[in-house]
Formats: sequence, C-alpha cells, structure tokens
Amino acid sequence: MTKVYDNVLDLIGNTPMVKLNRVTEDIPATVYAKLESYNPGHSTKDRIALHIIEAAERKGLLKPGSTIVETTSGNTGFSVAMVSIIKGYNCILAVSDKTKPEKIAYLKALGATVYVCPASVPADDPRSYYEVAKRVAAETPNSIYINQYFNELNIDAHYTTTGPEIWEQTEGKITHIFACCGTGGTLSGSAKFLKEQNPGIKVIGVDADGSILKTYHETGEIDPSEIHSYQIEGLGKNLIPGALLFGLVDEFVRVNDENSAYTTREVALKEAIMGGYTTGAVVQALKQYAEVNSFKPDDVVVLIFPDHGSRYITKVYNDGWMADQGFSRNCVHNYEEVFKTEIIK
Ligand code: PMP
Repeated sequence: MTKVYDNVLDLIGNTPMVKLNRVTEDIPATVYAKLESYNPGHSTKDRIALHIIEAAERKGLLKPGSTIVETTSGNTGFSVAMVSIIKGYNCILAVSDKTKPEKIAYLKALGATVYVCPASVPADDPRSYYEVAKRVAAETPNSIYINQYFNELNIDAHYTTTGPEIWEQTEGKITHIFACCGTGGTLSGSAKFLKEQNPGIKVIGVDADGSILKTYHETGEIDPSEIHSYQIEGLGKNLIPGALLFGLVDEFVRVNDENSAYTTREVALKEAIMGGYTTGAVVQALKQYAEVNSFKPDDVVVLIFPDHGSRYITKVYNDGWMADQGFSRNCVHNYEEVFKTEIIK
C-alpha cells in the first residue's frame, strides 16, 4: 500500500534492519545492520534534532522565527538545518575551519547560517566554536542551543525510538548491540531501553584510536597521552560526553583509521551498502570483538550503521585519499586489487 507523508520529518525513524551475509560470514551469529541512512537527512542525527526541537516547542521555548544553534560540522548540522526548514526556524551552526568546503556548502544549501571558527584555539577561547555557539545562543532572543554532547534528550531520542525499534525488529531476540560513540547518545538511549527488556543484552561501544572513552570506561581516568588526531569523524572524543551512560556499556572496542577505512569499503563491496566511515568502524569492532569472544548460532547481533557513504566520497571511497593516509593494505583484508581503475585509451 502506498502511503504519503505530510513532510520529510514524518520519515524520521523506523529505519530498516538488514542481515549481513558476507562481511561477517566467519561469525556464527545472525548479524543485522540498522540502516540509519534511511532517515531523510541520511543519518541517525535526524532523531535527536527532531526530539530536542519538539521538546523545546512543548516547553514553549520556540515560536515561528526562533533560532536553533549548534556546534557541529557533521550529521547533526544537516539534521538541525532540515528540521529548522520544515518548522520555520532559523538555524545557526558554528563549525571549525577544518570543515571541508563541500560540507559548509551542504549546510548552507539547507538554509543554515554558518560561522567558521578556528580549530587551533582551546575550547574556552572566545573564538572556539563552542564559545561562539554559546554566545550566539545567549545573545539571540528565542533561541535554543542543542548542545548534543551534554543534552540528556539526545539519549531520550534513542530510548524512545531506536531502542524500541530494535527490540521489535528482532522480536526480542537481540543478544548484542554495537554502536559507535561520539556523544554516546545512540548507544546509551538504545541500550537503556534494551537492557530494561533484557538485562542480559551485551552492550558494546566503539571508540577510536586517539580517543579517551575506552580507557575512561575501564579506569575512570582520562589518559591525556592517548589523545591524538585521527580521521574517523563522529567517533570518539577528547572529553567525557554527558550523553554517554558508561554504566550501561559492557565493553568498549577501539578501532583505528586504517582498518575502519578498509572495512567501510569491504561492506560496500560485499553487502552493497554504501556506509559512512563509522559503518566500517562498527563492523571492524565486531570483527575484533569476535577474535576474543565466541558467538553462538542463536546470537542476534545488531550493528548501528549511522550514516550514508555519499558524505565520504572524497575520503574513504577515494583511492588518492587512502594512499595519502599511507593505508598500504597491511591490515586484515586484501582489497588492493579492486581499488585499481582501468583507464581505456
Ligand atoms: N557516526 C557518525 C558518522 C556520527 O556523526 C556520529 C555522531 N557524532 C556517530 C557515529 C556517533 O553517534 P552518537 O553521537 O550518538 O554517539
């Protein structure tokens, strides 16, 4: 039956889940990917943008022409801009000057005002994107600041949507959930709901090499020596996000840029799913987890695939970029040959 929708916001959530058939064939469990790229803004962040903005509306904080402010160069910016258009709000995004021009163009195409701030200054410098966003929000009447890293409505968005969807789609059979942690909202909200249904479900967070989340989970300490820059966007952090409920996470797996990049491409080649860089990261984390933990045939593993590969065409799907990173295929799979292009003259 064909169904029509009032506007794109009605398409948020209820994303499909698809079985992975080849990329995880060595793992004796059923593995499903939840495809968050099927949201209208092509990522999981649509859920939090809508949830946080509608909560502010219910509190009477927003009226037509109000302003939504956020610090982001990534998926949250696209989602906040999209929701703002449909609901008639202004959208102001503070991004770092490391943000690629095509991303800024994308945000502007969705009507956002973009402030480009220096990445090289400390977070408490008045020019940093955190401080600029705070100042803009404070100075703009009728505005709200999404503040996704420290907003518990980020968790709540996934507690009320992603978690219940996974429970229903797996008919309550889920045994493991894996999700990349940036703010931690996706994993925390989903895990909170799922553990309430079955406390035995294993919750595995994915962290980046260069980020502090895994060690903080294990020791309660931040180890500054572990912080270094890395290429995977949206995963890991150099601060402790308030939206990450560490107590719900059983284990963190840390993945690196190179393995995650090749695995992103492996998922495209073996499953025909063009995912973002963190799609590769979450599959890579499952592979690493499976090296030290055994799965049973009736285990049901759910991986969150956060966004779409179209945003990474100049990055992990670009052979030149891969070569520039020095990714020389000395890692787990040999895909060099399929990266070659035949030029017919
Ligand atoms: N992958 C991508 C591409 C993202 O943009 C994000 C959000 N930062 C995540 C994963 C992690 O999601 P969360 O913030 O809910 O932990």
